Amino acid sequence: MANEENVTNENKPEKQTDNNASDNQQKKQQPNRQRKPQTRRRQYNRRRSSGPPKKKGPVFKKISVVIPLYNEEESLRPLFNEIKKAVKPLKQDHEIIFVDDGSNDKSLEVIKNLASGDNKIKYLSFRKNYGKSAALHVGFQEVTGDVTITMDADLQDDPAEIPNLIAKLEEGFDLVSGWKKKRYDPFIKRTTSKFFNYVTKVSSNIDIHDFNCGLKAYRSEVVKSIKVYGELHRYIPVLAAWEGFKISEIPVLHHPRRYGKTKFGISRFFKGFVDLITVIFTTRYIRRPMHLFGFLGALSFLLGLIVNIYLSISWFVHHISLSNRPLLFLGMLLIIVGVQFFSVGLLGEMMVHNAKDERDYSIKDKN
Ligand code: UDP
Ligand code: MG
Repeated sequence: MANEENVTNENKPEKQTDNNASDNQQKKQQPNRQRKPQTRRRQYNRRRSSGPPKKKGPVFKKISVVIPLYNEEESLRPLFNEIKKAVKPLKQDHEIIFVDDGSNDKSLEVIKNLASGDNKIKYLSFRKNYGKSAALHVGFQEVTGDVTITMDADLQDDPAEIPNLIAKLEEGFDLVSGWKKKRYDPFIKRTTSKFFNYVTKVSSNIDIHDFNCGLKAYRSEVVKSIKVYGELHRYIPVLAAWEGFKISEIPVLHHPRRYGKTKFGISRFFKGFVDLITVIFTTRYIRRPMHLFGFLGALSFLLGLIVNIYLSISWFVHHISLSNRPLLFLGMLLIIVGVQFFSVGLLGEMMVHNAKDERDYSIKDKN
């Protein structure tokens, strides 16, 4: 990652040059009053050896703001104004990509209006509602900047956080997620979200508090390489971490919804849970299914075997009849299920073997 190199180079303390070394020696030998001219000479020498002092430029050249939206007609204009206000003082160029996820209100009209007055706006409109993940996915394909910001369209995320997110990225991270430390959502959503975040954190080993914050900043290679589909937008940090990207988070301002209502109903909780299983499976075991199914199969088979050995001994040695022992069914069931898990694992391995593909590896650098 060329950008990361820039970051580390800029942050590195200046190397001790030979000039400095000899200065130090002289400092020891000479009385204190000599120090001022020495310092000046040192500055002069340094300037001569490394040319004029380098100006610190921005690490990123262009910011792409991606906004998925579904029926958010009232929020779009104020959101656009706030984004403009946030990016204006920055040195980078910018683009704003609106992805209309099949809205049936006037959202598209508002976007077209905005776009006619500002050539930094790009927009895309789905013919029907495909979901936030799909909207993000196509938005990501349109990104031309080297840093990408995502945010919700409902004004709950605050565009004023853009510079803070970018500053954190510049520390050398690939993805910086917003953390809605003080959030303005209904109680039920806040508590279930806490539970999801906890489970996700434990099962993915990623130490952040808020996985599903709409406000995030990415080095653009992240958004070009992760595959966000279904409703996996909730787990983007997990997908990115699994590709080897470095993740961090900062607390961000959060606001109550100003217009309209949330687009995700109560079904989000069930879907979120199923998606968590998908994410864990696809990120951990997709390339080695036997490690999961083989383990479960072996465990089940072994338990079944122990049960049946016990029953066999009691039949052979103690002559206890098996006709009225429900344990027998459990033993048989465990053995059959074990064999089935094993077979599924083997089938999975065959599929992985046939689907071997270079493109599936996340490559950091090459010449
Ligand atoms: N959204 C979308 N497609 C959908 C549902 C939502 O593009 O099918 C957008 C929505 O317009 C908003 C963002 O995703 O910009 C977050 O949605 P919402 O505010 O309803 O979610 P919540 O804040 O309740 O989690
Ligand atoms: Mg919202």
